[in-house]
Amino acid sequence: MKDNYIREFDAKIVDVTEDSLILDRTAFYPEGGGQIGDKGFISTDSDRIEIISTKKREGRVHHIFEGECILSNDQIIKGELDWAQRYECMRFHTAQHILSRYLQLHFNLETVGNQIKCGKSRADYYPLESFHEEMKEKVQNGVNDILAQKLDVGLRFMPRDEAISYLGEKGYQVRYLEMVPKSVKEFRIISISDYDAASCAGTHVANTREIGEIRLGKSKNVGARKRRIYFSLIPPT
Ligand SMILES: [Zn+2]
Repeated sequence: MKDNYIREFDAKIVDVTEDSLILDRTAFYPEGGGQIGDKGFISTDSDRIEIISTKKREGRVHHIFEGECILSNDQIIKGELDWAQRYECMRFHTAQHILSRYLQLHFNLETVGNQIKCGKSRADYYPLESFHEEMKEKVQNGVNDILAQKLDVGLRFMPRDEAISYLGEKGYQVRYLEMVPKSVKEFRIISISDYDAASCAGTHVANTREIGEIRLGKSKNVGARKRRIYFSLIPPT
């Protein structure tokens, strides 16, 4: 939540379920907010198990394995993320924030869904009937201009009400924030210089220079005036 660049960490096993390990702390990102969960390894001095996915169930982060678990409660472990996958998610996720902001500013579109995964990600926009070549080219060029500005991406925590009014006053998207359970008292705000700000629990890069260039792919209709746009990234050289 505070440092997206942690690749390895120490922790203690606090529970072992049929298919997962629960740790006292973790850097594994659990699937959510449209982003896939982290993969990686959890090991002790003598054993190592592969984590094939990470999911949140009833408030606990489950590090999911296949087969039988050779680790047990109270063991001190080392966690290692599959950094290639995670870093790609960070690049794609941050790119999606910028794409969404660009479409909000220039076409008054709202982001109503997203899926962040390696290689190809997507987001859904409303109201959008068609995404023709001319618009696609304008959006792709516009987003790439923003990415090339090497903008810093900041992360901070704000009390719930303060966050909602701050984002609203600045004209950023707030529609879904009221739907976040009232038990969430603090929002995590991701700012991309002063171009964009959003409440988001996902993982992001520290600067847009890490993203490279966006390539907008095909799009399709996914409901009344709702359109899904696919995109990929060309890594920086
Ligand atoms: Zn995000």
